[in-house]
Amino acid sequence: MIGFTDFTECNVIQITLFYLIYRKRRMYIGRFAPSPTGLLHIGSLLTAVASYADARTHGGRWLVRMEDLDPPREIAGAAANIVHTLEAFGFEWDDGIVCQSQRHDLYREALGYLKSHDLVYPCYCSRREVQANGHAGVDGVVYNRHCANLPLERAAPNTKIPAWRVRVPDTEVMFEDGIVGQYNQHLARDIGDFVLLRADSYWAYQLAVVVDDAKQGVTHIVRGQDLLISTPRQIYLQRCLGYAEPHYAHLPLLVNKHGQKWSKQTLAPPLDVQKAEPLLRQVLGYLNIPPAPEVDKPRDLLAWAVKHWQMARVPKQAVCTELIPK
Ligand code: GLU
Ligand code: ZN
Repeated sequence: MIGFTDFTECNVIQITLFYLIYRKRRMYIGRFAPSPTGLLHIGSLLTAVASYADARTHGGRWLVRMEDLDPPREIAGAAANIVHTLEAFGFEWDDGIVCQSQRHDLYREALGYLKSHDLVYPCYCSRREVQANGHAGVDGVVYNRHCANLPLERAAPNTKIPAWRVRVPDTEVMFEDGIVGQYNQHLARDIGDFVLLRADSYWAYQLAVVVDDAKQGVTHIVRGQDLLISTPRQIYLQRCLGYAEPHYAHLPLLVNKHGQKWSKQTLAPPLDVQKAEPLLRQVLGYLNIPPAPEVDKPRDLLAWAVKHWQMARVPKQAVCTELIPK
């Protein structure tokens, strides 16, 4: 006969197992990370909707992070405008909005860890020297490693403030993207030792994004294909810092009639909150979500997007949002 204690133990094990399975299923944290260097446009809306729908269909959390690390490029009032626009379009995020400008300590700590493991080095080269002595890579110049092996006493006497670069391996970094499939990049050949802290003391996007995604427990990153080229660098930093690697899905770019990505430079019109409904319907169309019925408010369109979301239906290729003149 099973005693009372055995029965309780069985129950405890069962409950623990259920809890673990439930927690694993629930463990999805996604995010949307705009930079206040411009206002949100149709391309940003596509990223917001897709990351939101993917998170919510997985029963996951969805965070908003303001990537305000480059004050000279920021536009006054853009951060507040972005938040207001997201609200007007019916988005609801979990937790408060995190601002990168408040997180310098975390980036400093991460750089300290990399220094203590000899994974980074100070670089005293001027921009002109880097350009003149490097060769063309896939995302700018590949640094010639002039400072990589300077003895510290040679490097240090300078009163000049150095940039900090990470040493990259002479191997390919590969990952499986949820939309574009397998992607690989040879960091040493195509990118080179890249900067984490600039000489003007601004943190590089590559470091900040990796630290924040890890510290916020982000498990799934859904963002535009313009950032695909950065992902191997970010995966390499995650490995250096001992962070888990999130799942990635890179969305097709929305382009104008000249095939250029919509951005501040190509004069993307800012999202008009008065047109939230038609703009959401337009974006749902690009994501191949079936047409939604009449709704009362923008939020209902987001609920529709969540209900009908299928990552497999998202196109891989860029989508033109304008009529192409004949
Ligand atoms: N802040 C970046 C941007 O606006 C996005 C960063 C990311 O999603 O990793 O382009
Ligand atoms: Zn250098």
